[in-house]
Amino acid sequence: MLTTPNRKWREARMVVKGLQSSRHPVLAQIVPIRRCNLACAYCNEFDNHSSPVPLDTMLERIGHLARLGTTTIELSGGEPLLHPDLDTIIRRIRRDEALAGLITNGYLLSQRRIERLNDAGLDHLQISIDNVLPDETSKKSLKVLDQKLTMLARHATFSVNVNSVLGGTLHDPEDALTVARRAIELGLTATVGLLHNGHGALVPLSPGQLRAYEEIARMTAPFYSVQNQNDFQRNLAHGRRNVWSCGAGGRYLYVCEDGLVHWCSQQRGHPGIPLADYTTADVEREAGTVKSCAPLCTVSCVHRVALLDRLRVRPLETLDEMLPPNARAPFSVRTLRWMFLTSRHRDRFRSLAARLLGVGGR
Ligand code: SF4
Ligand code: SF4
Repeated sequence: MLTTPNRKWREARMVVKGLQSSRHPVLAQIVPIRRCNLACAYCNEFDNHSSPVPLDTMLERIGHLARLGTTTIELSGGEPLLHPDLDTIIRRIRRDEALAGLITNGYLLSQRRIERLNDAGLDHLQISIDNVLPDETSKKSLKVLDQKLTMLARHATFSVNVNSVLGGTLHDPEDALTVARRAIELGLTATVGLLHNGHGALVPLSPGQLRAYEEIARMTAPFYSVQNQNDFQRNLAHGRRNVWSCGAGGRYLYVCEDGLVHWCSQQRGHPGIPLADYTTADVEREAGTVKSCAPLCTVSCVHRVALLDRLRVRPLETLDEMLPPNARAPFSVRTLRWMFLTSRHRDRFRSLAARLLGVGGR
């Protein structure tokens, strides 16, 4: 796969800015269209009739997210590739230096469509594959999407993550393993997500699903991978509750097609404030609001944001917790740990890094 040279640099900026301050959203997911071309049986995030959000409205919403200091903006749905002006929206996200992401079922991808996403400046794409063969629960199957993954591996300049889902009555757990193996074979990254119910809470894993989960985590778990760092998901897979503070509504925003801010796709209505009226004070208040749904929450993108905040507040302990027992951190991690956390010159290293990356203020 080709790479965009400055993406790593901008990702580093996002992380450093998130570590420096808690006053901005790290990640916002925004819905440009609620309609979907599929109808997965477990999904509560789509309809079959909505019109696209008008382009001007989308551009204004992206502008407001940028004014709040949002560092990553992901387009979700429904199926965002059904929006006729998606490339213009991606360009607008990139204009304010946010990272641009897309969550898609992949059905509408073609070589030409991938090249247009390259040209628009997309940074990363996530595609979820639920099974090897399509069934009545989901048509997001490897049989249909394998050619799209091959096209992505050949032509995308953005990073591509393939997410397979485990849980509930969803297909044979071996399917998730087959999907993850194929993604890695093609040079893409792979993660495994846990199925949630209509409130974002865990549907317990069967022993077979748990075995598949562990094997995928092993296949995809170098130190830097989200899968390895994400002990939230590991705990849930083993039926353990998480003790954490969910920053939804502050560090993570979900903006629906009506332009309202919600904690997440599974907790719509809280706080339900129009994005146009959302302020930094709202960000700070909602980030600190206790969510009773947190212990069994499976919404992994919000877990990732919480991990960044945990690193900001308790850096040494968090780094140690991220390592498997008795493992030694890679040399690069030990160097960064010394430079920014334990060295007596750490304040100088931190301000130098912030200056180099052009990070300051909020
Ligand atoms: S493709 Fe995605 S948005 Fe569409 S129905 Fe399936 S899970 Fe829902
Ligand atoms: S804990 Fe946070 S992310 Fe999870 S369901 Fe509740 S509000 Fe959503």
